[in-house]
Amino acid sequence: MTDEYDVVVVGGGGAGLACAVSAAEQGARVLIVEKRPQLGGSTGRAIGSFTSAGTSFQKRAGIDDNPLDHDVDAGLFGPREYEARNNVELRRFFFNRSAQTLEWLTSLGLAFQGPSPEPPNRVPRMHNVVPNAKAYVAVLQARLVRLHGAIVCNAQVTELVRESGRVVGVVAKTDGRTRVFRARLGVVLAAGDYTNSTAMITKYRGARFAAVEGLNPDAMGEGHLLAEAVGAKLVNMDITYGPEFRFVAPTKRGVDQLLPSGGPLLRIMGMLMPLVPKAVINWMVKRLLVSWQHPEDSLLMDGAILVNRAGLRFCDESVSPEREIAVAAQTDGLAYLLLDERLASLYSAWPHYISTAPEIAYAYVRDYLKLRPDVTIERSDLRSLAIARGLPPDSLTKTVERFNAMTSSGSGDIARGGTVAALTGSRWILMGPVKAYFTNSEGGVSINESQEVLDVEGRSIPGLYAAGQTGLGGMVLWGHGLHIAWALTSGRLLGQALGRAATSK
Ligand SMILES: Cc1cc2nc3c(=O)[nH]c(=O)nc-3n(C[C@H](O)[C@H](O)[C@H](O)COP(=O)(O)OP(=O)(O)OC[C@H]3O[C@@H](n4cnc5c(N)ncnc54)[C@H](O)[C@@H]3O)c2cc1C
Repeated sequence: MTDEYDVVVVGGGGAGLACAVSAAEQGARVLIVEKRPQLGGSTGRAIGSFTSAGTSFQKRAGIDDNPLDHDVDAGLFGPREYEARNNVELRRFFFNRSAQTLEWLTSLGLAFQGPSPEPPNRVPRMHNVVPNAKAYVAVLQARLVRLHGAIVCNAQVTELVRESGRVVGVVAKTDGRTRVFRARLGVVLAAGDYTNSTAMITKYRGARFAAVEGLNPDAMGEGHLLAEAVGAKLVNMDITYGPEFRFVAPTKRGVDQLLPSGGPLLRIMGMLMPLVPKAVINWMVKRLLVSWQHPEDSLLMDGAILVNRAGLRFCDESVSPEREIAVAAQTDGLAYLLLDERLASLYSAWPHYISTAPEIAYAYVRDYLKLRPDVTIERSDLRSLAIARGLPPDSLTKTVERFNAMTSSGSGDIARGGTVAALTGSRWILMGPVKAYFTNSEGGVSINESQEVLDVEGRSIPGLYAAGQTGLGGMVLWGHGLHIAWALTSGRLLGQALGRAATSK
């Protein structure tokens, strides 16, 4: 293997793969350097929604849409304060090009279900890759290998090589030794986000969030740090998606994990997709959502309580992010949600669902009992419920007694907002463990529309580019499906530009 390429990409998630494939499609010699034993990153863990306007899928469904309307609607998601800090020029640039990315992905053999609605988007714009986001990784990786792109795994980039102010390569630690990979045209930082970096979360979000983990344990912000070390400006680093509660990951592989995520079988699945009954698709989506989607806040607001492994309450369940911070501070960062008979029956029918992929599928208590027995149990009395999950039964019983006394007297336990109702009856549900996680961090390296990395003066740093979460460039992408759309669009565009430059020189 030669150590000199046209383009060296740091990180083999969605952005890095899309960049490497589209550079290789133009004839460039490209290398992905990936720190993990396999490619994927957060992209490989995701559900896979890709939100975009003006797509052929929309046209076929009779939906008339355009990127300008999408831009207006995207500004309605998330807190107003964040929208005021958004890089709307870059977002418009992105929205104008994301539908082409979807076409490109489809041409590579990926299949999508939808579009599905997600208000306040005025029309359905969410396209879900089939069977899940692992398909992006499998299809792009296979394509890269066919195009003779190089991949080095177990190689952590620790430094950028600069000569006369230009970034000309990377230093990577691999197999206990140090290697230098040189890049004739450019180094692309596509190293994901910093949701699991205690140091960066503490620095930018605050020390009280230090114990909250990232959903992807490998998301350590290394791309941001590499860029910063050569003078790059970092933007909106204090904004995170979460913390929010998630049930711990299933230990067993779900049926969706057994479905093909690449090769000819995926193509056949794609062709058959329009013929698959809606009920089957809903079932598939429901499986995904009980695996990965967060429990709704309303469950806590309507009166469910949080207990730790000792069977004790420890916070006001109605106040966020304080309750998430409190969960992260418990032993192993774990807690359980306790539902009594009233809540169990309330959360068994619309509009009271435990979790949702909005307007596509809704999961209720019975779905969790059936599909996630590892995190949901039901008993007719509190003691056997506690024993079944290994919580001290006396402690849990006393916790409920104390809580119930507080609901009538107003004192004697940690006060709470929302519905304050005694927990009673002969049907008890314990859900968990849950943990508090960050899903994404929204801070990124400052870039221009050519995805050149910019320094604090707004000047480009020669030879250095960024894509995906590392190269968010000040965009705050609230709502579902925009992060993957950006990762794949920014990767595709950058790879195309660098690939063209490589073959014209
Ligand atoms: C559970 C979950 C579900 C999600 N679902 C969705 C969804 O449905 N739709 C959506 O739009 N978004 C979703 N997201 C967010 C989305 O998946 C990510 O924002 C996006 O995939 C990021 O892509 P990326 O290529 O920028 O980073 P990643 O996919 O994280 O890739 C970064 C890669 O860089 C590697 N790397 C890091 N540092 C180094 C280094 N120093 N040297 C070498 N390699 C390095 C990492 O190991 C990783 O492989 C989800 C996120 C999670 C965690």
